Amino acid sequence: MLKENLEKVEQKIQKACAVSGRKREDITLIAVSKTKPLAMLQEIYDANVRNFGENKVQELVEKYEVLPKDIKWHMIGHLQRNKVKYVVGTAALIHSVDSLRLAQEISKEAAKKHITVPILIEINLSGEETKFGFSREETLTFIEEAAKLPNIFIKGLMTVAPPVKDPEENRTLFKNIKQLSVDITKKNIDNVTMEILSMGMTNDYTVAIEEGATMVRVGTGIFGERDYNKK
Ligand SMILES: *Cc1c(COP(=O)(O)O)cnc(C)c1O
Repeated sequence: MLKENLEKVEQKIQKACAVSGRKREDITLIAVSKTKPLAMLQEIYDANVRNFGENKVQELVEKYEVLPKDIKWHMIGHLQRNKVKYVVGTAALIHSVDSLRLAQEISKEAAKKHITVPILIEINLSGEETKFGFSREETLTFIEEAAKLPNIFIKGLMTVAPPVKDPEENRTLFKNIKQLSVDITKKNIDNVTMEILSMGMTNDYTVAIEEGATMVRVGTGIFGERDYNKK
């Protein structure tokens, strides 16, 4: 069943690439496996998926320890500073950097471990108070400060778009994020590239790809609905 879900997602990605003139290999599919059991992740791994996304540090680390080592783990959820030490060296990419203090902590921990950690900046252009992420103005100020920190690389932007009935409702938002990345690129800041745009979830990843996403984070579309009550 999961393999069929995955095939459907794959076909939709290819179609979105075709209509927008993009190359399939420029898009990374991240299978968002939060709350899902190891057996399901293994099944998707066996279907050749190597990028998995988790939103809780403990769950990411537990899965990292037992699953094959060629998996790239993506930290996509809100990250607390006291948990940074567990993800630095474990996660291949931290998508959800939403404050300077968090970036400083990641930098410090990465220096301790003698590694350089790629990060994305979480953007919230929809202005929803309940969400994490920088506004457009805050982003530029943040980047100028964060770019100076040792042992981190800013690789792009990430956003969590609002849940909408019709994914077309998020098209302008995705366009604006892409435009922001273009504006940042033009500033030519050391240690900053905008090669990654992590945007689009089950409901709207095809629209996100059409508007420039390079990473899409698909959970439900691959693994089915999540049950948060089950323990
Ligand atoms: C859960 C989650 C996803 C996946 O959501 P689906 O709608 O199940 O595809 C993507 N991104 C983030 C940040 C998430 O927390």
